[in-house]
Order: sequence, then C-alpha cells, then structure tokens
Amino acid sequence: MNNINMNTVGNEKTKGMLIVVSGPSGSGKGTVIKRLLEKRPEIYLSVSATTRPKRENEEDGVHYYFMNKTEFERKIKAGEMLEHAVFAENYYGTPASYVLERLENGQNVLLEIEVDGAGQILTKYRDALTVFISPPSMDELRRRLQKRGTENERMIQKRTKIAFREMRERGNYDYIVINDDLERAVTEIENIIFKPN
Ligand code: 5GP
Repeated sequence: MNNINMNTVGNEKTKGMLIVVSGPSGSGKGTVIKRLLEKRPEIYLSVSATTRPKRENEEDGVHYYFMNKTEFERKIKAGEMLEHAVFAENYYGTPASYVLERLENGQNVLLEIEVDGAGQILTKYRDALTVFISPPSMDELRRRLQKRGTENERMIQKRTKIAFREMRERGNYDYIVINDDLERAVTEIENIIFKPN
C-alpha cells in the first residue's frame, strides 16, 4: 500500500466525487449499491477492511479485505485507513490508498460505511456527497433483520439495536433515500449523484 500523508488531504477539493452511502443492516443498501454499480460503471466501489469473520458467500479482496485485529490496528497506526469504526464488536475501515488514487485521477468513489465512519469522512472532505438508505418503515426494518440468515441470534439483536441508533442519524446526511422499491431507489440515487449543476 502506498504511504500517503493524510495531512496533505485536509479539506482539499477532490477531483473525483466522493460518495458516502450509509444505512442500517436491513435497509437493503447492499442490493441498492450493487444495482447502482451495475448501471454506472464510472463509480468505483472502495473495498473495506474488516476483522469480522468471512461469511460463506464472501470472497477476500472482493467483499472485504479480511484480517485479524493486530493487522487492522497496525494499519490504523500506519495511517493506512481513511476512516475506521467498530461495528458489532469488529473493526471496519476504508483503505486510504485506493480511494485517494481514484479521486486524484478524477474518478468517482463510493464508500459503503456506517455512520461513525461517515462522520470522519465529512470532517476531512466537506464536499463528500452523503446518502442514507432507509427501509420503508421501522416495522419492515425489524422484519428484515429477523429474516437475515447470516447472523446468530445475539448478533441479530446487536445489529437491530445499532440499526435503530443509525436511523436516528439519518438527518445528518445530504439525502435520505427510502428503499421501498429497488429500481426506484437506484434511479433516485443516480439523479442525486449525476444531477446537472
Ligand atoms: P457487514 O458486517 O454487514 O458487512 O457491515 C456492517 C456495517 O459496517 C455496515 O453498516 C457497513 O456499511 C459498515 N462498513 C463496511 N465497511 C466499512 C468501512 O470501511 N468503514 C466503516 N466505518 N463502516 C463500514
């Protein structure tokens, strides 16, 4: 990984667009983002690092860079993370070099990150575009979280609690997109990102 001095970044305007998308577990943000990226190949997704165990359908380097806590903490210390946060007992973070290189090339980069990380990004990049993907209702959110087969009961409870906390932060984002219909939500985000000035 390149050794990039974060102090040179500050609040400089980025050449490419930095797009931050958050939303609670159960908002369907993963599906929305996947569809958005299919339609808009000019948006580059940053692959995050995490200490969470890999799920069966996930691939290292594609869905996440999976690593242990020691390695993650070493990267934080070395300044290799653009932002990082603890979510449901695990570290998650954005490797800096990929994002900074793309932005410097004038390319658009999308970060799919939780609310604390989004706050850190905004303090560094005031121009970042922030979008919060919301489920249609709290009841629907609860239903979706219960249905998830990827976590055990304790983790479902934990993620539900975090989801409700995250929902309370949605007002801090530039835009809130309600995921009631996949194609509609994706079109709405496209319009937000590519709106004529
Ligand atoms: P999951 O374990 O379901 O893949 O992700 C849990 C949460 O971590 C999601 O809200 C996801 O958006 C967030 N997340 C994924 N990557 C990052 C990252 O690099 N930084 C931060 N702050 N959050 C992340």
